[in-house]
Amino acid sequence: MIEISIKGHPKRVSKAKVKKATLFFADKIMYPRLHETLIVDVIFSRKNLEADEWANCIAYPEDSQRPKVFDINVDPGLSEKKTLIIIAHEMNHVRQLAKAQLYEYERKKLCRWKDDFIDIDKVWYWFLPWEIESYGIEHGLHHLFEMSIANDPKKREVAAKIFARK
Ligand SMILES: [Zn+2]
Repeated sequence: MIEISIKGHPKRVSKAKVKKATLFFADKIMYPRLHETLIVDVIFSRKNLEADEWANCIAYPEDSQRPKVFDINVDPGLSEKKTLIIIAHEMNHVRQLAKAQLYEYERKKLCRWKDDFIDIDKVWYWFLPWEIESYGIEHGLHHLFEMSIANDPKKREVAAKIFARK
């Protein structure tokens, strides 16, 4: 099982729910063989965020081709829904980095995405392929998580069967 620690103090969501959601996202997008090797800290603090960021994901060591240790930094003031959606988004970046689909060169200006090299100064943020993938999956993962804890057992049953692993 992936090792997840929740640090800091989110203002509008319980740490228990954050942990449950983070585990759920890991299980839905990564095979156990991958996620059971990972250590993820979800840190509610603006300390390691840029002024225009609500969240980010940092792999350690930063130059590792297949990192196993990650910090997900999250603004502690976000709504519960926004917090969970943003963690789904960042967990997808964890998958991309852990599977070496995405590798950020130290200068951070050049990234390898699968077999392509992308100069991040030349591609608009919203059109970066790893962002398109993370924005594309975040709402579905959040919706699936809410289904998995719904009162309606039919919703829970459907949620248990759906995976987005690859
Ligand atoms: Zn992103």
